[in-house]
Amino acid sequence: MAYTYRCRDFPGMEACPASFTAESVDEVMKHVELHAEAAHGEDPKQWSESDREQVQKIIVAN
Ligand SMILES: [Zn+2]
Repeated sequence: MAYTYRCRDFPGMEACPASFTAESVDEVMKHVELHAEAAHGEDPKQWSESDREQVQKIIVAN
């Protein structure tokens, strides 16, 4: 099983071409955090529980 996150599926990120696939949701989350920091200038430590839930909802199993 692999899990994929596509940044453009997140509201407001429609222009972002990045996507990440990994073996576990936890690993995908780490890629998303690094990407959000590097590409979008965000601080994942400031994300609320609902921000994380929204990211996890977009991660699809494939
Ligand atoms: Zn992005």
